[in-house]
Formats: sequence, C-alpha cells, structure tokens
Amino acid sequence: MSHGDGDHERYAHYVQKDKIMASALDGTPVVALCGKVWVPGRDPKKYPVCPMCKEIYESMGAGGDKDKGGKDGKK
Ligand SMILES: [Zn+2]
Repeated sequence: MSHGDGDHERYAHYVQKDKIMASALDGTPVVALCGKVWVPGRDPKKYPVCPMCKEIYESMGAGGDKDKGGKDGKK
C-alpha cells in the first residue's frame, strides 16, 4: 500500500518531547515542526532527520535557550 506521499515516513521529525511521550502511550499522531502529522512510533534513530524540521529547529536556536550566546560569541 503506497500512497506516494510517504516522505514523512522515512524521516525522523522533530516533535516536542512531551508530545512524543503522549503519542508513544496512545499512538496518536503528533504535528512535527515542519507541519507533518506524524506518528513517531518507530525507532527515530533509524531514520535521517527531516531537513525541514532540522532547519526550523536550528532557527529556533537549538532548544530555544538564547541566553547562552552561542553564535554571536562573547558577551
Ligand atoms: Zn519534519
């Protein structure tokens, strides 16, 4: 059963961790950063990271902790 639009099945998408936990419990789909509705039931480490999710994740500042002052160097 192939639906053509199966790219999201081949990538590991970034999803909020608590949502992954909830999904793991009841199998409900989650919305990834890239907007894909995705069920992260399988081992995400087997898949390459979704390029779109990665880009969004990195643009958010790799965790959203901007106070660390990573890229811009020193304070
Ligand atoms: Zn994605």
